[in-house]
Amino acid sequence: MAISTLARPKATTFLSSRFLYSTSKYSFSLTRGFASGSDENDVVVIGGGPGGYVEAIKAAQLGLKTTCIEKRGTLGGTCLNVGCIPSKALLHSSHMFHEAQHSFANHGVKFSSVEVDLPTMMAQKDKAVYNLTRGIEGLFKKNKVNYVKGYGKLLSPTEVSVDTIDGDNTVVKGKNIIIATGSDVKSLPGITIDEKRIVSSTGALALTEIPKKLVVIGAGYIGLEMGSVWGRLGSEVTVVEFAADIVPTMDGEVRKQFQRALEKQKMKFMLKTKVVSVDTAGDGVKLTLEPASGGNQTILEADVVLVSAGRVPFTSGLGLDKIGVETDKAGRILVNERFASNVPGVYAIGDVIPGPMLAHKAEEDGVACVEFIAGKEGHVDYDMVPGVVYTHPEVASVGKTEEQVKSLGVDYCVGKFPFLANSRAKAIDDAEGLVKILAEKESDKILGVHIMSPNAGELIHEAVLALHYGASSEDIARTCHAHPTMSEALKEAAMATYDKPIHM
Ligand SMILES: Cc1cc2nc3c(=O)[nH]c(=O)nc-3n(C[C@H](O)[C@H](O)[C@H](O)COP(=O)(O)OP(=O)(O)OC[C@H]3O[C@@H](n4cnc5c(N)ncnc54)[C@H](O)[C@@H]3O)c2cc1C
Repeated sequence: MAISTLARPKATTFLSSRFLYSTSKYSFSLTRGFASGSDENDVVVIGGGPGGYVEAIKAAQLGLKTTCIEKRGTLGGTCLNVGCIPSKALLHSSHMFHEAQHSFANHGVKFSSVEVDLPTMMAQKDKAVYNLTRGIEGLFKKNKVNYVKGYGKLLSPTEVSVDTIDGDNTVVKGKNIIIATGSDVKSLPGITIDEKRIVSSTGALALTEIPKKLVVIGAGYIGLEMGSVWGRLGSEVTVVEFAADIVPTMDGEVRKQFQRALEKQKMKFMLKTKVVSVDTAGDGVKLTLEPASGGNQTILEADVVLVSAGRVPFTSGLGLDKIGVETDKAGRILVNERFASNVPGVYAIGDVIPGPMLAHKAEEDGVACVEFIAGKEGHVDYDMVPGVVYTHPEVASVGKTEEQVKSLGVDYCVGKFPFLANSRAKAIDDAEGLVKILAEKESDKILGVHIMSPNAGELIHEAVLALHYGASSEDIARTCHAHPTMSEALKEAAMATYDKPIHM
């Protein structure tokens, strides 16, 4: 079988496969001329999350006069303040505790007792958040991005009124305005989040006591990550999910193994189950449940309930109506392939537009958007955005699932390799999981890669690069991988895709 070419595709190739929304419908304006020397900015970014702050820095690096407006008072958005970073800090700390309790003795490391010091664990998380968010302020200074702390409202396609956090009001003018206002927690009808007994992910990152019983509503990646944190620290965790499966976007076979792995960690699942009501009248919380298809009701008791049923775009008070920016039914701003809305000079990126709600996707959007504004080519391919669930084991994937490949009617090959046959995983006694590769039968071009293993979120990037360059499974198989590494499992799975693995 021929080794596929590793030549870099042209930027237009990348663009062609991005999800497009009514590209022909909206006109987009390239820059309206740059404003150096005047009071007016070339670019005004509303929102300082990973989409907005990265975009502002990139715009400044491209020589555009840039202002970023952020209402929170700290930069980094959901991701750094109440999302990716604090959750990964707690996932790491709780994993260490769990390892100390359950695995260290197998490695000959013994101690008489191990206990959780929750305030110290939370303080370490808060320190990471503080240092990282302050670090971005430093990057703004270094790159000469003007930073305005306050709530931005669109007055016109070139003017943003800002109620500053110190009580003033100012108007920021820009030739190009980019909306990067992100997303917020989705609440459920009849359930009031008080961030004490009924919490969102934000409350779940700041509990002051370990709940004896935690119920998680929603089996998406955020619910499973936060459920893992508190389960490792001692909570009895039950996940209630309306759908038939956990993490619906995951490859079905990998998902089954993943659910089994979490069940071994004592996480309980109630799938195809609807939460009818939540009663907080007594000391604890009582949830009334019934089968998704209707039937007998049951009561489930909890000390804390985490509502993790997804996120919604955040555009509250922004004034989209005032200037006529078009949104879809879910409230997401509609943009074309250059991130331009229907209003000339107004763009949108990140969680507030359609596409995966992920920090790295928001960053890619932001960079491409200002590259277009600066008259260059940008590229984002949503088919190649990796997704990671940072539990233990982690699950990481890129490209198509087997279900998606089947539904496309493509002839395909599958190669799998279990970590039980990987020497490094065996050496460290952490061998749960597998690599699964899907490739087009005729060309051997890789269509999707799914990894469940410790550090799968790091391993996946070899596959992301392979997909970007249109590589075949044979390309990966014939690439020398260092021994002993977990990455060798990817090489073996690639061998299994077009031929046979060695170590199985
Ligand atoms: C618990 C949790 C864990 C997560 N873990 C991961 C992960 O591991 N990996 C991953 O990729 N993603 C993760 N995410 C998702 C990730 O945080 C988001 O996809 C990402 O932050 C989106 O970036 P954004 O810039 O589009 O929006 P946001 O990060 O939401 O930033 C938008 C910013 O705009 C500000 N803003 C809004 N309106 C205005 C206004 N009118 N004026 C001024 N400022 C305004 C907001 O205050 C906010 O700071 C997680 C999310 C949560 C909740």
